[in-house]
Amino acid sequence: MITGKTLSDFARLVLKIGVNLQNGQGLEVVCPVEKREVAHAFTEQAYKMGAKIVNVRWNDEIVDKLTYSYASIETLKDVPKWFVDSKNYLVEKDFCYVAISAEDPSVFSDVPAEKVSARAIAKSKALKKFSDIVMANGIRWCVVSVPTENWAKQVFPNSQTPVEDLSSAIEKCMRLDAQNPLQAWEEHVSTLQRRAEFLNYKRFSYVHFKNHSGTDLKVGLADDHLWTSAREKAKDGVSFVANLPTEEIFTAPHKDRVDGTLKSAMPLCENGNIIDGFSITFKQGKIVKYSAERGYDTLKRLIETDAGTRRLGEVALIGKNSPIAKSKILFYNTLFDENASCHLAIGKGYPTTIIEGEKLSKQQLKDKGLNDSVEHIDFMIGTPDLTVTGIDKDGNETPLFIDGEWVI
Ligand code: ZN
Ligand code: ZN
Repeated sequence: MITGKTLSDFARLVLKIGVNLQNGQGLEVVCPVEKREVAHAFTEQAYKMGAKIVNVRWNDEIVDKLTYSYASIETLKDVPKWFVDSKNYLVEKDFCYVAISAEDPSVFSDVPAEKVSARAIAKSKALKKFSDIVMANGIRWCVVSVPTENWAKQVFPNSQTPVEDLSSAIEKCMRLDAQNPLQAWEEHVSTLQRRAEFLNYKRFSYVHFKNHSGTDLKVGLADDHLWTSAREKAKDGVSFVANLPTEEIFTAPHKDRVDGTLKSAMPLCENGNIIDGFSITFKQGKIVKYSAERGYDTLKRLIETDAGTRRLGEVALIGKNSPIAKSKILFYNTLFDENASCHLAIGKGYPTTIIEGEKLSKQQLKDKGLNDSVEHIDFMIGTPDLTVTGIDKDGNETPLFIDGEWVI
């Protein structure tokens, strides 16, 4: 269980490898209200590491659910200025922040989906300035998860001890079962870095995904794209890891150079709604056709959010032998599920996946093929039989994945 010493180890790991909290720096922790002990552990460890101040922002999804049920859509679209200011304050005051994501995947399934998405879109728009800064690494941040009861029950519906089961799964994925978790992460991060360097050296024009379930997709890469792995550098030069656990190496697709069809490999859980068995077809970067066995309306709303949600903003590679993939657990949580398999994202691309992208203007990024949107939604396409091939400008092919695993 992630309690006691394991919880202190967890908090220290996230503060050191994740946000890399510096002496004298402020920290914000966003935490589900039912996990007070986790916020307490982060607060204590952060102060011990020399934090100037620790702010905790509580999340209560039951309050959110009631608000979605009773408040009008107009009210839900109104994002208070103080909320936006409180986020921008983090940037002004050079805070780092840890978000603890532990949502019950179906908490909002009984409330009108259009209310949830109206609120989400309004928030994304209101926080555009902040999220632009976050995505350009203007602030160090890290997303992690801890088991909550309702989430655990969804993941292990037949278990007598769902919280314990989810807790032990998360421990393994977080390498907290290693003798020295900090060292295990250092080694893992180095392997990812080596592969990213190889991909950057090859300068592929596109990567080709193919499997037996019907994915046959050529993803053109943005000009001056940069394959990035776990460890990134923030604007202030201090390194951090934005997601723990993380297994991915990712870069920017070219928004106009994606052709073919993908088949989803896992369900996508978005704001408490599940989309499953979906297929998307692209032509010159744009989505021209899509279908879903379940959650078609949610998929449609996502794709039609703005012009940018009709194109790709991320392509990420993950082998099938990562601890998360090996667990074979569907977590209904993007942090884990996106690290179980190769994935793509529709919507905003990361400026950090373009060489020196943080220094470029929006127009310059666009000219290189980077997509922009208020949204960024990851979904899985990696299956155990997936092949991925890198193809350079002269047509030379380099196998990257055979049968779902790295061959480099
Ligand atoms: Zn990703
Ligand atoms: Zn993503």
